[in-house]
Amino acid sequence: MIGSSENQVLLGKVVPHITAWYDENRVSLPWRLSPTPYHVWISEIMLQQTRIEAALGYYGRFLAELPDIPSLAAVDDDKLMKLWQGLGYYSRARNLKKAAIQVMEKHGGILPDSAEALRKLPGIGEYTAGAIASIAYHKGEPAVDGNVLRVISRMIASYEDIMLPATKKAVTLLLKAVYPEGREAALLTEGLMELGERVCIPNGEPRCEACPVRHLCRAKEEGIAGEIPVRNARVEKRREDKTVLLLKKDGKYAIIRRPDKGLLAGMWEFPSIDGSCAEGDVESYLVEHSICVKPENIKSCGEGRHIFTHIVWEMKGFLCEVENEGGPFLWKSGAEILNSYAIPSAYRIFLKKLK
Ligand code: SF4
Repeated sequence: MIGSSENQVLLGKVVPHITAWYDENRVSLPWRLSPTPYHVWISEIMLQQTRIEAALGYYGRFLAELPDIPSLAAVDDDKLMKLWQGLGYYSRARNLKKAAIQVMEKHGGILPDSAEALRKLPGIGEYTAGAIASIAYHKGEPAVDGNVLRVISRMIASYEDIMLPATKKAVTLLLKAVYPEGREAALLTEGLMELGERVCIPNGEPRCEACPVRHLCRAKEEGIAGEIPVRNARVEKRREDKTVLLLKKDGKYAIIRRPDKGLLAGMWEFPSIDGSCAEGDVESYLVEHSICVKPENIKSCGEGRHIFTHIVWEMKGFLCEVENEGGPFLWKSGAEILNSYAIPSAYRIFLKKLK
């Protein structure tokens, strides 16, 4: 059982080794130089679905434009989307702004210091609340993500499925029972993350020879580290076919804003038709939208695939020279679209055609 007293004793011994190791070996990263609540919050949200190397540039640009909670609360939506463009999972950016507004209205512009109050803000789940509370406010709150689940499962040699919420809950409670307060809380949260990224790595054998707890780790002792963690509850992805239209008139292209709710809410995109369409369907679409009377110039312009958490878009594109600017679209030059409109990276293969 994950929460057994035996496991608690083991983790109690592990904690000081991880905090000491992290204190001596930490990698220097911009958000670690001054771990204010705002900096920890922004960095943790960016790092949720993004590799550290990829997030570095975004983090610097984001803070240069929006250095604090009041500026984030007041930012224009299009500017926010532009700052986030390429990071994906855009609801993260929208929730940052919503949460900043709530912090201004309900908390005097200062992020709350308890994990419970942090969890009530949009976009802040258990993991991010624990990370802010422990790293920025030195509270004894664990932050459990996939990395931490893997590391702890190996240390205690647990074959429980880490994709199950019950496993995450049990690991969180186990850690909570041994979490220190004060500066050690910050060191433990960051130490567990760093250990998972650099030493107790996913995909293949962990680097146990470099691990500060190799003398305590049960998976190492039993030679089963490569079998752990177990992940069974995989999520099936739904396939959606789309026909993407690059409608062009006098060097300008049509774009349209996505709905305010749902996937990629509020972002800009090219017009599209549901399903994988033939040229004849595209012709009918152009006539229906009164942008062509007699469509003639329709050319295939590539295919693309984009994988979201639960959905896969299979896209094929057509470049269409049309007769009129019309329809419910905004018509902009390629340069304007690339510089001023946040188009999801799902469309990158078609964005290249604008250059
Ligand atoms: Fe992971 Fe190996 Fe360290 Fe155990 S000893 S925590 S398996 S790196």
